[in-house]
Amino acid sequence: MNCRNCGAELNANQAVCLKCGVKVGDGNQFCPNCGSAVAENAGVCLNCGVALKQEEAPKPLNGQDKLVMILLALLLSGFGIHNFLMGEVKKGVFRIVMSFVCSIGNILSIVDAIKIATDTYVVDPDKLV
Ligand SMILES: [Zn+2]
Ligand SMILES: [Zn+2]
Repeated sequence: MNCRNCGAELNANQAVCLKCGVKVGDGNQFCPNCGSAVAENAGVCLNCGVALKQEEAPKPLNGQDKLVMILLALLLSGFGIHNFLMGEVKKGVFRIVMSFVCSIGNILSIVDAIKIATDTYVVDPDKLV
């Protein structure tokens, strides 16, 4: 384990580099694995090949526009388009399935209403609880 800021060797239980005072893991000048100098923001150490962690700014909506997501969530709520756009595919599929199932329920109830209104609705004795 080496300091990412100055390349000095570190103990595993060290929280701060004793040479440069930087928090362990901070900095991007040196490889934490072998301590050799690396290019700033390099993804991999060219000396030992270890993957170098990049500090990535969190993307709250996976890069999608907030207003667009709100509108899609409200207007096309049943389709989960906003979930798909934010990369939450499973959630979006679940949303579609749920809205499909609920729509079937709505349609069946409308059919019932029509039958009741036209006196053709028959109560199924097997389905009485
Ligand atoms: Zn250091
Ligand atoms: Zn290295």
